Amino acid sequence: MSALPSFSSAPSSTPAEPTQTPEPLSGARRALVLFVVQGLPLLGFCAGVWLFLREGVSGWDLGLMGAMYLLTMVGIEVGFHRYFAHRTFETTRPLRALFLILGSMAGQGSALLWSAVHRTHHAHTDQPGDLHSPLLGRRGFWGGLRGFFWAQFLWYLEVPAIGRFGRLLDRYRASPADLLASREEDQAHRIARTLPDLLRDEPLVRLNQRYGTWVLLGFALPTLAGGLVTGSWAGALRGLVWGGLVRYYVVQQVTFAINSVGHTMGVRSLNSRDTSRNNVVMALLTLGAGWHNNHHAFPGSARVDFRWWQVDLGGLLLRLLARLGLVWDLREPSPEALLAARLDR
Ligand SMILES: [Zn+2]
Ligand SMILES: [Zn+2]
Repeated sequence: MSALPSFSSAPSSTPAEPTQTPEPLSGARRALVLFVVQGLPLLGFCAGVWLFLREGVSGWDLGLMGAMYLLTMVGIEVGFHRYFAHRTFETTRPLRALFLILGSMAGQGSALLWSAVHRTHHAHTDQPGDLHSPLLGRRGFWGGLRGFFWAQFLWYLEVPAIGRFGRLLDRYRASPADLLASREEDQAHRIARTLPDLLRDEPLVRLNQRYGTWVLLGFALPTLAGGLVTGSWAGALRGLVWGGLVRYYVVQQVTFAINSVGHTMGVRSLNSRDTSRNNVVMALLTLGAGWHNNHHAFPGSARVDFRWWQVDLGGLLLRLLARLGLVWDLREPSPEALLAARLDR
């Protein structure tokens, strides 16, 4: 692993831009987006509850759900977060493609959209412009509760750029420099300009724009596995429900909890100039992202386990892949920088 002198949240040459109130979605569109992002996944989860009450759950069902959870969470935390959003290590093109596909299978937006939203979060954490802070402008107990609920379930309704991002990338596909140099001030253009390194990577953008295919793959794989192993249509359906629908909902809610829980519940041990917190339960569920205070203090680090007792499964996977020569240049803070950031010095 190599130590880096600075730990910017993104390798962007674009300075943090002034923030603007985004163009709000119409009432009907808000309802539709809410149904697609929360309603449909919840219905899928309910299908799992219904199946469980009717037929119980087998070891194979749970194994398939666990395997799909791990694969998609690796895609989100190691691929989307530590590689695409923060560029904390280098890797081969095939592994980069695999990270992109696994993360997309989680259905939380394409790698570039996810990274743009996340880089914006780091550029404006808990300040105007942060797209999902639970604390922004919230006061008192009820305000705090509303902020927590908003960051967990509703924040994307205030980010109309999400619906336009894919079309924007298509429009500038042949000339990403024009997008980076554009002076358009709508939200989609502004968050896209946080990605100078990723937008100029044509093969990556091409793979990114097949996002819909990768989301479908996330449901097709467990369906196929369930059907092949049991040799029945009923087995295929159980694979879809446990490895597809239930897994999708759980991964989505756990990832969104980094927005809500990660900035409200837990302890702060490093100076990160924001409200990020370390939470051991979240850290285990998210393969490391729950050491959120550690991450905000050193967003450019490939590891987030800065104490011997902190378990960072994403970081352990990266160290294993480094042993195999599949990833390299894993960045991490120097012992001096870590000591200087400690709040209990
Ligand atoms: Zn955060
Ligand atoms: Zn981050």
